[in-house]
Amino acid sequence: MKGIVFFDRDGTLINDPGYLSDPDRVEPIPGAIEGLLLLSKNGFRLAVLSNQAGLAKGKFTELQQAAVHERFVELFLRAGVLFEAVEYCPHHPEGIVDKYRKKCNCRKPATGMADRVLDRFPDSASWSRWMVGDKLIDIEMGKRLGARTILVGTGYGTEEQVECHRQGVHPDAYLHDAKEAASWILTDVRNP
Ligand SMILES: [Mg+2]
Ligand SMILES: [Zn+2]
Repeated sequence: MKGIVFFDRDGTLINDPGYLSDPDRVEPIPGAIEGLLLLSKNGFRLAVLSNQAGLAKGKFTELQQAAVHERFVELFLRAGVLFEAVEYCPHHPEGIVDKYRKKCNCRKPATGMADRVLDRFPDSASWSRWMVGDKLIDIEMGKRLGARTILVGTGYGTEEQVECHRQGVHPDAYLHDAKEAASWILTDVRNP
């Protein structure tokens, strides 16, 4: 067991059209599946952590969200990628849907979603951790979790790289995409 790699979903593993609500628009980012397979073959556990404030904001329904989730998991599974967990945060402090309007402990950059995954495994405290995402909040969350962090250039990655600089938040690596991140993680294990 080498560890666990957490991935953001939208803009990191699949295209991010903004408030994704249509399963037919679930499109893996080129190379993402290949990268995940590489990690999985090398013994890494994989998990996905995704803010979905569109639920709190009434941008889409739970049924739409479930359909997108199912398509996402199915597309990756069909290619041989099995996730330990796929966690969502439906909350937002200024949401318009009552049950999801709150300041939760799972919306990234909070670590609640990762904690939920790790809590399921009694030996997870000893696992190495990585976090791969296209936004500053992904990097911030990874750092809070004690993970090595990678900002990818897909999704909002280019803009967010500027934001990371501005805020003095430094990922351990800036890489082109999830596929490059996977290769980097393999070398990171050998030379941390
Ligand atoms: Mg993202
Ligand atoms: Zn939440």
